[in-house]
Amino acid sequence: MLPQYFDIHAHLNLPAFDDDRIEALKRAEAHSVWSIQVGTNQKSSQGATMIASFIEDGVFASIGVHPAESGDGRFSEHLFNELVKCSRVVAIGECGLDYSHFDGEKDIVAEKIRQKKLLETQIDFAVAHNLPLMLHIRDSDKLLADAHHDTLAILRQKKEVEGSRLRGNVHFFSQTIDIAREYFNLDFSISFTGVISFAREYDEVIRLAPIDSIMSETDCPYATPVPYRGKRNEPIFVEEVVKKIAEIRGEDFETVRKALVQNALRIFNIKPLKYRG
Ligand SMILES: [Zn+2]
Repeated sequence: MLPQYFDIHAHLNLPAFDDDRIEALKRAEAHSVWSIQVGTNQKSSQGATMIASFIEDGVFASIGVHPAESGDGRFSEHLFNELVKCSRVVAIGECGLDYSHFDGEKDIVAEKIRQKKLLETQIDFAVAHNLPLMLHIRDSDKLLADAHHDTLAILRQKKEVEGSRLRGNVHFFSQTIDIAREYFNLDFSISFTGVISFAREYDEVIRLAPIDSIMSETDCPYATPVPYRGKRNEPIFVEEVVKKIAEIRGEDFETVRKALVQNALRIFNIKPLKYRG
């Protein structure tokens, strides 16, 4: 059976779910919500893989190191080579460039170089394993689009060598339709969180993007959608994101709902039949 919804970016691996992780997974199953659990460092990537392996069906993992990881920011090929053997691992990330955390940073040039190297390592790893990337890109300023421009430059260069093996998704997309189109041209999709339910700055890109290039996510425990603001976010609330995407695009809810599920299955190469019990 196909799921009703797909939350392509969730963090049930974080401590916010220590008290009711299993219950949250059961609620998702009961609501027919499939999800990808996303690692941000070595430990949480192990956690994401464990959660995905623990559940019989419908939970997958993305493993990687976040650009602004405050703890252990290393990418150990040895560890990730072990984790990637798990068939539930469907993407590499979240990795990327995050220029929004530079307040008080002594050497911004050195920090950008560090982030770019970490990203390139993970791009190479994803290509070597023929897996899509789960990108996290945040600019220092939306008007500058600096992190996106740097990411696109790296992707274009790699694309010339790697071709169709280089692909992926930009999660929590927060830029314009023009920048989105540059990603589409490189075989990347974009995904939206619950912030689209209360912030209007995403409307234009949601309306103008081709339906087969967008996906739904929660980024839980963060970014809770209306009408659950103030509560911790979780995968079942992805329904509100899907509703809002349909509303903003002025399209039939069922059509959009089905398309977003199909996009997730295609982009992350998930074959439901393979997992049927
Ligand atoms: Zn995330």
